[in-house]
Amino acid sequence: MHKSIAVKVGNITIGGGAPVVVQSMTDTATADIEKTVSQVLALHRAGSELVRITVNDEEAAKAVPEIKKRLLQKDCDVPLVGDFHYNGHRLLADFPECAKALDKYRINPGNVGFGRKKDTQFAEIVQKAIEYDKPVRIGVNWGSLDQALLAKLMDENSQLTVPLSAREIMHKALIESALSSAEYAERLGLKADKIIVSCKVSDVQDLIEVYQKLARECPYPLHLGLTEAGMGIKGIVASSVSLGYLLQQGIGDTIRVSLTPEPGAPRTNEVKVCREILQTMGLRAFTPTVSSCPGCGRTTSSFFRELANDIQNYLSEQMPMWKHQYIGVENMKVAVMGCVVNGPGESKHANIGISLPGTGEAPVAPVFIDGQKKHTLRGEHIAKEFMVIVDQYVKAKYHRD
Ligand code: SF4
Repeated sequence: MHKSIAVKVGNITIGGGAPVVVQSMTDTATADIEKTVSQVLALHRAGSELVRITVNDEEAAKAVPEIKKRLLQKDCDVPLVGDFHYNGHRLLADFPECAKALDKYRINPGNVGFGRKKDTQFAEIVQKAIEYDKPVRIGVNWGSLDQALLAKLMDENSQLTVPLSAREIMHKALIESALSSAEYAERLGLKADKIIVSCKVSDVQDLIEVYQKLARECPYPLHLGLTEAGMGIKGIVASSVSLGYLLQQGIGDTIRVSLTPEPGAPRTNEVKVCREILQTMGLRAFTPTVSSCPGCGRTTSSFFRELANDIQNYLSEQMPMWKHQYIGVENMKVAVMGCVVNGPGESKHANIGISLPGTGEAPVAPVFIDGQKKHTLRGEHIAKEFMVIVDQYVKAKYHRD
């Protein structure tokens, strides 16, 4: 279990035992205010509690205050994180309204400047964070690892009687880059409770080893994510197994899933995956869960798959309203099962479960509520009737007194 300092980012607390925070990043050009506002809103509505935007040039820096203003006009107070590389020191100095509008700055020690300029430019960003009372994430990435530091560690390693492997040196360089930068930021006057750290890599085993070590060595909250996780199922599985393994050990205070969006897929999928990881692990509850069997040769038709899908969508659609009206509804469990083999058993374990008729079974669907068989549905309107029952259950069980 990694015990970290709590860091406030806008209205959100990261670390210090707070629930693991979900975050995401836009892929719009930040200078395109309309598109960026629209994507931030979509990510926030999907459940992102922090949204990062790139601040890569003057046009982007100029756009940030307007983006923040338009979000607030739409009642969206999600903290905005500015992602800076190479020119962050200059943009923050030249565009004070941008520096004020952002809730956190991300600094990549590998991209903050080179040679003698590195420390000066890093210090300039930290000074702005101190001036505007903003937290920073010191975010190291193995794709942009500080090459001077890596070369120094390689040289030192070559002098050892038993040198470390190249992989071990890379891990060491990632961690040293993050922690020495954090120590430097503290020496410059940034308080420890304004620092979040990350060391992202794209290999699952590397991520696990690096974060386990990082957690032993630092008190800062950890931003956890597998960088460049990939597309679709590959990216989801790689992120889920690595984040799940570390979160189970109490490592990770805020998570991001860096999925490459499939053509036509919404950016919000990365938020959905983060929430599923946390909810599946029992670390947080966001929305009622639907258990459904995979179906097999005993499943009579696609009806059961459609019902599982419809009920899942119905619950997600209702949640924005339900979460204000019904206390604890996000913990509700619903089961949609394909036949009598496991249907009644699984349904009895859920708050509400329906066991649809499989091949050769009587065309009836028993509905179980809190472990008791309460209804038997039949005919063409089973799906509609089941949703009415779910609705009544929510109103009766979770209603705010
Ligand atoms: S509950 Fe029935 S339909 Fe579903 S997987 Fe099991 S045997 Fe197949």
